Amino acid sequence: MKIIVTGGAGFIGSAVIRHIIENTNDSVVNIDKLTYAGNLESLASVDTNERYQFEQVDICDRQALTRVFEETKPDAIMHLAAESHVDRSIDDSAEFIQTNLVGTFTLLEVARQYWNTLPAQEKSRFKFHHVSTDEVYGDLEGTEDLFTESTPYAPSSPYSASKAGSDHLVRAWGRTYGLPILLTNCSNNYGPYHFPEKLIPHVILNALHGKPLPVYGDGTQVRDWLYVEDHARALYTVLLNGIDGETYNIGGHNERKNIDVVKVICQLLEELAPKKPENVARYEDLITFVKDRPGHDVRYAIDASKIEKELGWAPLETFESGIRKTVEWYLNNTTWWQHVLDGSYQQSKGVEDK
Ligand code: NAD
Repeated sequence: MKIIVTGGAGFIGSAVIRHIIENTNDSVVNIDKLTYAGNLESLASVDTNERYQFEQVDICDRQALTRVFEETKPDAIMHLAAESHVDRSIDDSAEFIQTNLVGTFTLLEVARQYWNTLPAQEKSRFKFHHVSTDEVYGDLEGTEDLFTESTPYAPSSPYSASKAGSDHLVRAWGRTYGLPILLTNCSNNYGPYHFPEKLIPHVILNALHGKPLPVYGDGTQVRDWLYVEDHARALYTVLLNGIDGETYNIGGHNERKNIDVVKVICQLLEELAPKKPENVARYEDLITFVKDRPGHDVRYAIDASKIEKELGWAPLETFESGIRKTVEWYLNNTTWWQHVLDGSYQQSKGVEDK
């Protein structure tokens, strides 16, 4: 297959591309605008592979997308490009509406136009796989409930509302135009190459620098954590074996309170990075509770039994094994995150002369 991956320079998109190039014979065309979240250094292990191609394109740019579709003739799209950080969506939601809604609409239209030109057999095999989040389902009050594929949408933040809207667009294009669509809604991801604004890498790097470890409210919000490589494998499984029009929830059965996640990271750092900054006696002493995020959902938890039963996918990592691998990765890959912290990762974009 030739697969267009949008947002392939991001955290999950780069894991998907590494997974496909390293484990299959498929080719990948990475369409990415390279916002602050796009980092081509995350693709260093595959970027010279002849089955990998990069196109710096905004998914809102219909003309540029049409050119890429005509030139590359994809068999499938995996759509991950998005504005993805909840805090940024609260500060300024415009880009979230633009990319997540207008961008998804534009991509759907370009894909539909291209799909309509395909011969019957290729047309029936084509897939538009939209990658979404469990945050579209909103908040779980109780401790027992889980999100299933039929849980009603109730997004709380501008980010989750824009993702919910994009899910509706994709389903409508499937229902109205017959575009062969697949949807996945996944829980919180963590792992290597995660941009340091997100909780887990932020805590690891702040701890290593002796800076405060900010925890929202009392830290009792519960998230269901999935190791990013398990997600990448799940997405490829759905692309290959998912039923057209279906939605699959993806999760790791790893519900943890935010404060417990932070404490586990501190404990691992005590073991793996015992030489601490001068001002630090114990990493845990750096934990600082800060004013809660507005509209902060209390609990997310995924029922992933459909993908497990129907497609035979299951996570390979437990939270304990995955978080250890993640902390070790940040300790062993200092150049990657130093380039993010000093901004030099953006020089690999080639945007300065544009
Ligand atoms: P990310 O922010 O790390 O990466 C997003 C990528 O999209 C970046 O490379 C960025 O440059 C690119 N991009 C942004 N706007 C673009 C545009 N207009 N045109 C082209 N490219 C653009 O995000 P992520 O964490 O890798 O998430 C990927 C997808 O998975 C998103 O759709 C997100 O909603 C979804 N998701 C994320 C999580 C999570 O825990 N991170 C969980 C479930 C679902």
